[in-house]
Amino acid sequence: MNIVLQIGYLLTAILFILGVIRLRSPATARSGNLIAACGMGIAFIVTIIRYHSFSLPLIGVTIIVGAIVGTYAAKKVRMTAMPQMVALFNGMGGGAAALVSIGKLHSLWTHGISSPGASISALFTVLIGSISFTGSLLAFGKLQEWVSGRPVTFGGQKVVNGLLLLIALILGVVMTISGGRQDLGMLWLYVIIAAAGGLLVVLPIGGADMPVVISLLNAFTGLAAAATGFLLANNVLIIAGALVGASGTILTQQMSRAMNRPIQNIIFGAFGKLATAGGAGGVGATDGVVQTATVEDVATILAYARTVVIVPGYGLAVARAQQEVRQLMEKLNQRSVTVRFGIHPVAGRMPGHMNVLLAEADVPYDNLYEMDAINPQFPQTDVVLVIGANDVTNPAARNQPGSPLYGMPILNVDQAQRIIVLKRSMNPGFAGIDNPLYINPKTSMLFGDAKSSLSHVIRALDEV
Ligand code: NDP
Repeated sequence: MNIVLQIGYLLTAILFILGVIRLRSPATARSGNLIAACGMGIAFIVTIIRYHSFSLPLIGVTIIVGAIVGTYAAKKVRMTAMPQMVALFNGMGGGAAALVSIGKLHSLWTHGISSPGASISALFTVLIGSISFTGSLLAFGKLQEWVSGRPVTFGGQKVVNGLLLLIALILGVVMTISGGRQDLGMLWLYVIIAAAGGLLVVLPIGGADMPVVISLLNAFTGLAAAATGFLLANNVLIIAGALVGASGTILTQQMSRAMNRPIQNIIFGAFGKLATAGGAGGVGATDGVVQTATVEDVATILAYARTVVIVPGYGLAVARAQQEVRQLMEKLNQRSVTVRFGIHPVAGRMPGHMNVLLAEADVPYDNLYEMDAINPQFPQTDVVLVIGANDVTNPAARNQPGSPLYGMPILNVDQAQRIIVLKRSMNPGFAGIDNPLYINPKTSMLFGDAKSSLSHVIRALDEV
């Protein structure tokens, strides 16, 4: 029987790895998700068989409740709310890993068993899992606007964080050395300190910056799960935890690099304090002339272009205008206009946000160009159509050393022959600074909700 279970776990691990590999491209991501889900299903069945002392009715009820909640949440969630959903799931993973380890320690100590190896694994999991649990829940609350999304800072915050970590480490060492002989009060104190640490790490971070932190906490949860795998001698948990830990770490690095924010700022606090509009080196929109365009102007410019690059951003997700974007692409293609899409790695509010939106509207993957591939093409591009993107096109990132965006790689849309920007107002984007692109003499602004602007442009194209 044991060999069958081990083969089941091995199959699970293989399916998880294949799933992650396929998640690397939008073309294969759906099947990757399905493959990984099959792996999870097998792991689930194998675990139930392995621990046959479980109460089957209880497991049945749990599966039904979990399936209903999961299906409902996945179907109902809006694309713009995806980061908080990930935060919630991640928090549950960290909390579950911590609970399993608390249970294990409880069982070891009440039986007077001293096992330093198991204690270290379990205490590590409790620490990381609890930080991930409370940190992720606070991140969820901030993004959902249940608590203020503003960064909360106070004097001596770093000292308090450091002290809490030190106390947790001392408690951990004491509990490991005296394994099996101390009462559980110390363990609960340790849990409370770790949980408070999770809140204190996330408090100083602005709500809109939360996706990077969620990715970091995701890596923490992976580590916690892998440590639980060691504790339970469960290979598949070690492999799955390592996969989550590694991919979360890589994603955090990629996001912080693409946003030009050092990771240490994320961990040590006060990250995400937004600059005020026009401040910190941003060019006030009133410093130059903003040219507006009518729907008819935009339709005419697009109709007579040879090459158009569409640059989508967060506003596209807010407006839910992806179907209109595809229709526009098709209309222009019918006129022999070449249409490409320039995708910035942190456009939107989560990695791959634009890819998912455009895939939903069946825009062919071949038309999507990553930043490094599209940037050299802008000088030969007749028209760039910026739809709800702001920071990822801001030239201040290239040429204003005082700007909070300075150093962030951007899409060099200002190098195209003409630029058309679709947004509702002159309001800044996520970074809170003005965009000199809007006063560039080559730029025309079409103000309005992107979905409605695009619908009007598509109709106007029939008249050109
Ligand atoms: P921005 O937040 O810079 O700009 C979005 C723009 O969309 C706004 O200026 C807004 O202007 C416009 N907009 C909003 N709603 C609509 C609508 N209904 N119709 C038309 N326009 C609309 O987005 P970008 O995608 O350019 O940049 C992403 C930012 O998010 C970067 O600063 C990045 O660092 C950050 N970020 C990204 C993460 C990721 O993983 N992708 C994670 C965390 C942060 P207006 O209000 O005038 O309409």
